Parts: sequence; structure tokens; C-alpha cells
Amino acid sequence: MTKRSFALAAILGFVAIALGGYLLWQGRQGDAIPGVTYEARNIDPGPMLHLAEVLSSDALEGRGAGTPGADAARGFIRKRFEDAGLKPYLKSGWEHAVTVLPRPGLDVPGPGANLIGWVPGQTPGSGPLIIVTAHYDHLGIRNGEIYNGADDNASGAAALTALAEHFVRQPPRHDILFVALDGEEVGFLGARALVRDPDLPIDRAALNINMDMVSRSDVGELYVAGTYHTPGLVPLVEQIAAEAPVNLLIGHDRPEDGVNDWTNQSDHALFHELGIPFLYFGVEDHPDYHKSTDDFSVIPLDFYVRAADTVAMAVRAADERLPEIYALRQQQAAPVQPEGPTE
Ligand SMILES: [Zn+2]
Repeated sequence: MTKRSFALAAILGFVAIALGGYLLWQGRQGDAIPGVTYEARNIDPGPMLHLAEVLSSDALEGRGAGTPGADAARGFIRKRFEDAGLKPYLKSGWEHAVTVLPRPGLDVPGPGANLIGWVPGQTPGSGPLIIVTAHYDHLGIRNGEIYNGADDNASGAAALTALAEHFVRQPPRHDILFVALDGEEVGFLGARALVRDPDLPIDRAALNINMDMVSRSDVGELYVAGTYHTPGLVPLVEQIAAEAPVNLLIGHDRPEDGVNDWTNQSDHALFHELGIPFLYFGVEDHPDYHKSTDDFSVIPLDFYVRAADTVAMAVRAADERLPEIYALRQQQAAPVQPEGPTE
């Protein structure tokens, strides 16, 4: 153990103790969480909020892919997966190897990994499934400053664990994979490794639901992108929007949106490339986006809880009509037929 990793371990030990203290405190206080008035219908917000805070703490040094901070982040997420009662998908355990390439400032990156867990549906191991994703890596340390990435994407990674816990408690009809992805910020490395692994059930995937930046909105707005590419998902999204505790807006997925077309801006892009329908949930860019000021302290917690609860509703609604959604995948993945002779 190097001095550096020893120091990190010591700090993480402290963080773990702080976590225990927080939960104890929360248990005594009942459900009241400062700053949160919304009563969640699906997820348990306390552990989610605290995981987001831990992931975006300075101790994790910005969770750069291939760094000890990312390694530590994995440890915390894995612990939440285990506590939630999620099952590891691979026979070898939770970790799905991701190769992190050297980059300026990181000549010898450590090994990367996705964490893959699943909740069995009514016919485990067969039929269409949903893959829920969120990346946990961020930008690390740049010019001596820690980029904590609280919204991007400690928020999504922590929400992922809350959704997993919800579906363990209330099992789905179809299998659901919950994947914490590595290396998004350095080229979607985790998502690429995921969709290219023949040992993973990518051909059974009816839908990817991806969360990346789900905690910051002063006006209560959450976007959902993907219906432009799969118009058959519009009724589903409209159903969710009608019941959602946020203002759920369709958009950011059309070529004419230019730089505001988010189709290829996060991990769902890799699913889209394969013709797999996706729904991406995220907020508008904010002044702290990709800055060292993307901190937990500025997250409006009430909105964050609402957003995560909304995505849980979306996963549930998709599960209820998954065979229909799988048919949409088959239609859009079908090769274009040459035009026949006209009569
Ligand atoms: Zn991100």
C-alpha cells in the first residue's frame, strides 16, 4: 500500500464512520431530511442523498477514471448495491473490467470497472430486459483543483442505487440490469465495454434508461431525450409526465438542436448506435457544469429526490410495457428494405 493510498484509506474510513453517524441520526429523526419537503413515492431518499454527498466529497478527488478516487467510489456504490439486496450479474462478481488508457496527467492508470447488478423479473434470464445506467467517474483533479462532480454524475450514480433498492423491494416483471459505468468522461469507456461484451445480454435489451446529471434545476425541470429516435415511446413518456413530481420535458434529441442535441453526449449513445431505444434523463447545463464548483452543497435536494423518483416511475412504466418496447427495437434495428417496384 502506497502512502497515498494509505492516506486515502484513512480518509475513507472516516467518511464511512460519518455515513454511519448520518444514518443513525436520520433514524432518530424519522423521515425528515433538511431541505426536502417532497414525500418520495418510490425511492428511499436518505441513503441516496448521503451516497451522492460521499461520492462528491474531496476525499474521492473527483473520481477520475483509473485513479484511487474512482476505485473508492466503486467501493461505496458496491456496498449500496449489496445493502439493497441486488445480485451481481457476472459469475465473477460485481466488477466488469474496463481498460482505462493513459492520458495527460495519468501515465499509469489503475484498472477501471463497471459494476453490474440485476433484479430478476418473472422469468429470470429470459425475455426482454431494461438496462439502467449512470456513470460514476468524473474529471478528477485539474490544475490542482478537485472537480467533485456532484451533479455530474454523483447524482445519477446514487440515484441508480436508490432505484435498484426500490426494484428489489417491489420486483419487476422483466429482468432489470443496474450498471454503474466507469470512464464516461474519457470517451464512454464503460458503456463501450458493456455493449461490446458478448457475455452480457445486450440482444435482450429493449431499452436503456440513462441518468447523467439529475439533481440541478431551480425551476423544477427534468428533460427526457430519446423519443425523437423512437417515437413509439412518446405515449409512455406522456404517461410518466402526467404523474411526475417534476416538470418532465421531452427534448434535446433532434439533429436540428445542434450542440443541444444530447443524443451522443452520454453513455446512452452506445445503445443508440446499436439501434436500442433509450430514454436519457438529465437537467439543462448549469453554470457549475464541468467546473470545480459542481458541489453537493449547491444541489437543491428536494428537486433531486423528485427527479430520482420520476426516473423510478419511468423504469416501472417501461417494465409494464416492455414487450411493446422490444418490438420497437426490432422495428428500428431492422435493415432498410430496398424499395420495390411501384405499380
Ligand atoms: Zn456526466
